[in-house]
Amino acid sequence: MRKLFLLAIVLFYSCHSSKKEDKQPLKKQPRKEKVVYIEAPYFKAVKNNDVALGKPTAGQWLDMHKEKGQSFEQFMNSKHIVPTKDSNIIYVKPIGNFTDLQKKQIKLLREYLAIFFQLETKIAEKASNDIIPNNARRISTEGHEQFLAGYILDDILKEEKPEKRIALMGLTEVDLYPKPEWNYVFGLASYSQKIGVSSIYRLQDGKLTEENFNLCLSRLLKICSHEIGHMFGLHHCVEVNCAMNGTNSLVETDTKVIRLCSVCQRKLNSGINYDNNKRLTELAAFFQRNNLKDELQLMEKDLKSIQ
Ligand SMILES: [Zn+2]
Ligand SMILES: [Zn+2]
Repeated sequence: MRKLFLLAIVLFYSCHSSKKEDKQPLKKQPRKEKVVYIEAPYFKAVKNNDVALGKPTAGQWLDMHKEKGQSFEQFMNSKHIVPTKDSNIIYVKPIGNFTDLQKKQIKLLREYLAIFFQLETKIAEKASNDIIPNNARRISTEGHEQFLAGYILDDILKEEKPEKRIALMGLTEVDLYPKPEWNYVFGLASYSQKIGVSSIYRLQDGKLTEENFNLCLSRLLKICSHEIGHMFGLHHCVEVNCAMNGTNSLVETDTKVIRLCSVCQRKLNSGINYDNNKRLTELAAFFQRNNLKDELQLMEKDLKSIQ
């Protein structure tokens, strides 16, 4: 099965009481005020660069999953975490023996997440592959070793509570599988626990080299920011091309942009409360430094819109 992520999606239920109306009300019930959120000019400006999604083709995420999306108002009415003084650091935890190029990807991922979420982001203590017991490993039908993703979530990451942790993303170089009948999985997450694990194995098309470095990096940045975005309460985006679009395969991931659409940016900003212009400027500088041209172009368009 070629599913991108086995998602532990957290569903938020809104409770509507369905009391029957009194026939002779003694006094008028106060009407519940609808909260109106004022959209800051920044979001109105970058909305011009949101690109509508076309009709999904066979096998794409929205073809397989009939999702309704999540409006800004629905997000505001949902339970979601916001940073506090005791919980405000994102951690990336490497598990395995990484090559120098892979180590460079991890370093850049940390840097990117710090900019993307405008929160301090640290590399947690590296773990060796030896911490995975034999009953959580197997040799795949393709002949390489794989780790059981659920073991890493439940037995390693769940127990890991570094200082002021708000979210934790484990990263392996070994391929992952979610259950015996599945061939592989790109990652697995528990949004209620704010932990996830991703593997770099399939993002590098065999072997990470100088040539495919940027393609692999772009995928890693997209996937990790998407997963941590879920941890902050953002659901899949279904109307415009956005980093929060669900994807069913690496091919589909490659068709999605790294940019958060205006609505998803507004959701993220409402909880983390950062300076939008600063974030955008830093994202553009990051893409420029790392020669990610398409990504830079998207940020430049947004920068132009807010001038
Ligand atoms: Zn997702
Ligand atoms: Zn979006």
